[in-house]
Amino acid sequence: MNIKNEDDPMNPIENTSQFVFQTYLRQGKAFVRGEGTTLIDEDGKTYTDFLAGIAVCNLGHCHPIITRAIERQARTLVHVSNLFYTVPQASLAAALVEKSFADRVFFSNSGAEANEAAIKLARRYFQSKGNKNRYKIITMEQSFHGRTMATLSATGQDKIKEGFYPLLEGFIHVPFNDIDALKAAMDDTVAAVMLEPIQGEGGVIPADPDYLVKVRTLCNETGTLLIFDEIQTGMGRCGTLFAHEGYNITPDIMTLAKALANGLPIGAMLATQEVAKGFDLGSHGTTFGGSPIATAAALEVVNIISDEAFLSGVNEKGAYFRGKLLELKEKHSRILDVRGKGLLVGMEIDTGTGGDEDKDAGFFVANSFERGFIINGIQGKILRFAPPLIIDKTEIDRLVAVLDSLFSAI
Ligand code: PLP
Repeated sequence: MNIKNEDDPMNPIENTSQFVFQTYLRQGKAFVRGEGTTLIDEDGKTYTDFLAGIAVCNLGHCHPIITRAIERQARTLVHVSNLFYTVPQASLAAALVEKSFADRVFFSNSGAEANEAAIKLARRYFQSKGNKNRYKIITMEQSFHGRTMATLSATGQDKIKEGFYPLLEGFIHVPFNDIDALKAAMDDTVAAVMLEPIQGEGGVIPADPDYLVKVRTLCNETGTLLIFDEIQTGMGRCGTLFAHEGYNITPDIMTLAKALANGLPIGAMLATQEVAKGFDLGSHGTTFGGSPIATAAALEVVNIISDEAFLSGVNEKGAYFRGKLLELKEKHSRILDVRGKGLLVGMEIDTGTGGDEDKDAGFFVANSFERGFIINGIQGKILRFAPPLIIDKTEIDRLVAVLDSLFSAI
């Protein structure tokens, strides 16, 4: 099937190279269609997607129920602003509150904006009570919280901060999974601790379960707010609707984005009633946040993903996938580690010491792509897999066979 329109002179690769800011290293061909776990490029070649638009299309591409919700809402009401009430936004807020620890939701358009709102809320919660000195946020080394100035300042990776100094004041980074380091950094100027239950961009690094419990206890003892960034780990990705559910603790604030509307831009910042008091009339806002189409789609996403049977399928397939990758690890000494939870899976590889045989993550990403599989590389040495949660075991087997042949060839 050749779906390139010969009459259309548009060349997406040339035009993107010429007209779009060159901030991304893009791969391969332009995609023109997505169906379930499959993406189709302009030459009609199909790819099995093990990335889901970076943990976004958790229900697969163009899921019929989501597409219908988008179509229906696009015909009914597209935008009125947050100066008015809308049914989809109200319904989604009620559903998120019903299914989480939270009592209130603030909607945004992206993950960075949701985190920006969380940071602002943590500061304002204390300042509105007259505590002006309590404004610092402790985050984790290797964390990723976004690209706005505040979320960049919160992020614990130096390389993405280069050239943007001075950053926002008041962020302290401590090593992840180290409770003593966190205790040492705590004082009465700290408003909140912010972390990802599994660091996604940092290399798929899960929090130790007892670490999270200790963080919660420490926050309780010191009256510090706990913020979970579940932008990548939420919406069923880790086998529960929100990853922290697997650890039996709750935060005071949680952020969501990515998969919340299965591909439409949306973010959400959820908080307890007490903490939500930090934002009052006029204290925060957005034109588009929580707009009707995105929230109508997200409501369907929440309903589908929160189903017990759906989530147990994610756990089962995740365990199967990790099991198969661990079998590969037994066979190939270049595989150093397989980790993750549910269907957020990382594989750390030994990239060698600089000789001809050296193969970094980019080699596996490019060769998998050639063979019709989309995977992702982080920091040159970690392969990240975040397939649509509807992936099946046959597709997992086929990717594992490709990886097996690639590791055998080096
Ligand atoms: N937080 C986490 C944990 C993320 O993984 C990301 C994106 O990768 C963000 C925040 C930023 O989200 P966005 O790119 O929608 O601004």
